[in-house]
Order: sequence, then structure tokens, then C-alpha cells
Amino acid sequence: MPPPKPTTSPDVLRSRLEARLARQRKQDLWRERLSMSPNPGAPLRDFASNDYLGLARDPRVAEALAAGARRDGAGAGASHLVNGHFAVHQALEERLAELTGRPRALLFSTGYMANLGVLQTLCDGETRVFQDRLNHASLLDGARLAQSPSRRFHHRDLDDLERLLSRAPRESAKLVVSDGVFSMDGDTADVEGLAATCQRQGAWLMIDDAHGIGVLGQQGEGLVGQRFSNRQVPVLVGTLGKAFGSCGAFVAGDAVLIDSLTQFAKPYIYTTAQPPGMAHATLRAMDISEQEPERRERLHAHIQHFRQAADSLGLPLMDSETPIQPILLGDNKRVMRWSMALREAGFMVGAIRHPTVPRGTARLRVVLNALHESHDIQALLDVLAELKFREAKAS
Ligand SMILES: *Cc1c(COP(=O)(O)O)cnc(C)c1O
Repeated sequence: MPPPKPTTSPDVLRSRLEARLARQRKQDLWRERLSMSPNPGAPLRDFASNDYLGLARDPRVAEALAAGARRDGAGAGASHLVNGHFAVHQALEERLAELTGRPRALLFSTGYMANLGVLQTLCDGETRVFQDRLNHASLLDGARLAQSPSRRFHHRDLDDLERLLSRAPRESAKLVVSDGVFSMDGDTADVEGLAATCQRQGAWLMIDDAHGIGVLGQQGEGLVGQRFSNRQVPVLVGTLGKAFGSCGAFVAGDAVLIDSLTQFAKPYIYTTAQPPGMAHATLRAMDISEQEPERRERLHAHIQHFRQAADSLGLPLMDSETPIQPILLGDNKRVMRWSMALREAGFMVGAIRHPTVPRGTARLRVVLNALHESHDIQALLDVLAELKFREAKAS
């Protein structure tokens, strides 16, 4: 007699997820969410967020958000192409185009979606895509979604890029993609060199300046805005959730690019427009960023001070002149130990591990902002010095 048919089948999917989760813990890769106000009496000092200019909690920006919501509603109600496109979205797009010195700009709900939308629109499976190895995950995912697998060149290595480009057929469409400020390293792309290489090879250059907008340049125009023409950098992406303290993103460029995105980018077409109040808030944040350049000056003074002091303590800094000042510790356990100790001492600093960064390069991602006081930075340095000293003694 055949054995009776089992009444239930094994739950393979659950077993797989459980095994994967167990591996994640075992390799010290477990990611925790931390509530930002665990103890209102002793809030953690923020050396982790990307709120570089301290605008996310500025009461003027919050008030613009509230007033904008009262006027235009809490939500947009539909996508931009149905009836979710408000006058304030239009005004914000024009303001962003002006800031970056581009003919036009188009709003997206997040930077992740902007990158998916651009790559999906510019790639048809035939387009050759070349990306810096350390580019943001959204750029790599965008190319994959577009079924134009990326070739990755060595970090900031123009010779490697040139070599890869020259191997692609002359008549193929080519797109070179790089972060402006590398989000986990803090160093910057050589935009001038990239643009020259691209022009020689007939490629378009796309720069994702998420961490440069608001922070770099006299007016906060970023690494690329104003300094490089639309011909040099035809695709410029910026996000609004970092220095401008709100949320959303934009793509800036000429009419052919913006029209193509409006017509074809699915992450633009099939999603609800950003709440109009948020666009009011971003405009207010941009006013403050322009009217109070001392925020940027203060931030850059903090960067110089931190680097000098950390260097004289012998802390392993990276080659960064931006507010992102990673301390390269190498292994996951060590990074988690340091980050816990910092948290106990009252500091919030991101612990960055694989796959966000290559294996063996785990780091503390110290982020400076304009609201820090010199004594906050000194206090952080004191804890870092103590950790280094304790480790040296133990070994
Ligand atoms: C943060 C970031 C993004 C994603 O932007 P969101 O608006 O947070 O989705 C994209 N690219 C880079 C380089 C980033 O650092």
C-alpha cells in the first residue's frame, strides 16, 4: 500500500528565512532600529544622521510643513500625472533647477525611486552602464531593474573607466554613473575627470549628489551645480532628506531628460506625489540654507577641527573633506563594540558593515552637523580616544 499522502507540506520559505536570519546574527551583521528618543531626559547626541545643516528640526521648516498641509492638504491625493501636482511642486522644481544651474528639474518621492526611474528610463537593455564600485545601492539596483547590468570600475579610477568604455562598441549608448560624495566614505568623485572621459567616449555622465546638495558650494548648490555645465553632467540627482531636512528627491537636466522621465519613468508615473506640505517645507529649508551660509561655514570648521584632532589621536580616518568622517575599524565585532560603548556614553554613531561596505572595511560613520557645538565634538573625541587606549592596553 502506498504511504498516506502527508496532509501538510514543509514550510520551505520559513525555514530559509530562519536560516538566513540566524546567519545574519552569527556574523555580527544584525541590524537594529534605535528609537531616537529612548530617554527624553538624556537624548543621544546625534553623530549619525544626514541632517547636515540642522534643518530637520528647525521650527521654521516645521511651521512651513504645517501651514502647507493646512493650505493644500496632508497628502497629494494622486500621482503628478493625474491630479497630485500642486503649484508648490512646480515652484520647488523651478527653485531646484535654479540652484543647480540646470534648465529643468523633476521631483521624485525619494532618492531611491529617482535613481530607479532614471536608470530605467535611460537603459533599454542595450545601454552600457558603468558605475563606480562604491556607488549607492539604489544606483546598482536601478541598472539591474533596467536589465542593463553594470560594469563596475575601481573606485575613482579614471583609467579603469576609460579602459572599460573603450571596449564598448562605438555606436552603443553609454552611461557613466557615480555618487558625488560617497555616502559611506565621504570622499568625492573627480567630476572634471569623469566629464572629460565621458566626452571623449561619447557617454552621458550621471552624478548622484545626495550628500553634496546643501553642503558644498557657496550657495549649497552641491559638488556639481553651477560648477559643471549640463553638457558635462547631463544627469544630476539630488535628495531633499539630507541637508534640506525634509524628504524627496529631484533629477535636474535638460528638456530631453526631464520629458523622458515624465513620460517613461515608472517610479515617477505610478506613485503618489509627495505631500504638498513637504514641498513647502523644502522651499523654506532652501531659504534658510541660502540666507544662513554661516551654517555651512560652521560645519566646515567642525570638519577641519575633527580631522585634525582625530588624526593626532591616531584614529584611522579616511580621505574625506565632507561631514561624513568614517573611522575605519575593519571587523564587525570591533565596530559593534565601539558603537555600543559610544551609545552608552550618550553618542549615536552609525556602525556600517557588509554589504553596505566591502567585507573587512566595517567602520563607524561619524557625521558632523552645523548644530554641533565644539564641546560636543570634543566629548566625542574623548570617548574615541578612551576606546583606542583601552584596546591598546588589552592587546
Ligand atoms: C540617501 C541616498 C539615496 C536615497 O535617497 P532617499 O531620498 O533617502 O531615498 C540615494 N543616493 C545616495 C548617494 C544616498 O546617499
